[in-house]
Amino acid sequence: MIDIFEILGIILTVFFLIVILILVIAILLISYSVKTKKVLFPGFVLFVLDFLYYPLKILTEKIGMKKGYIDMISNDMRNFINYKELSKIPFEDRILLLPQCLRKRDCPAILDSMKGFQCKNCGRCGIGDLIRFCDEKNIKVFIIPGGSFVKKVIKLTRPKAIIGGGVPYRT
Ligand code: SF4
Repeated sequence: MIDIFEILGIILTVFFLIVILILVIAILLISYSVKTKKVLFPGFVLFVLDFLYYPLKILTEKIGMKKGYIDMISNDMRNFINYKELSKIPFEDRILLLPQCLRKRDCPAILDSMKGFQCKNCGRCGIGDLIRFCDEKNIKVFIIPGGSFVKKVIKLTRPKAIIGGGVPYRT
């Protein structure tokens, strides 16, 4: 007669094998995307990356891959999934939020309580160029001093799309 521990053992083994199989499929899909620049089943890949985020993060770093690689792939997948919808939204209804940590240490920008850091385009970092580009497209840009500021900006601008920039990986 099979006892409860044997049943549990079988269930765990099957679960483990399914996870490994899903992981292998996701890795093959990612490799294909990286090589061909064509993305297959982005929703599935994103689900696997989210579901196995921490084990994958540790695994990729252990085998010597670039720190933040999993975040980079996740962001690419998210961008790919959202691009079609985003592209339908007029530029003037979009806002770009940049974290203030992208600025240089000696950044001369002054903090405005309603508009965030006001870039002086001093050339010490790439934000000035990015703002110029967005100005041409009529996209509003905010260099945000902290998380609570995001709510304020959303209330103020009522955007239809928010683009977040420069967050390399989760903590
Ligand atoms: S370009 Fe703008 S954000 Fe960057 S360091 Fe200069 S003032 Fe600061």
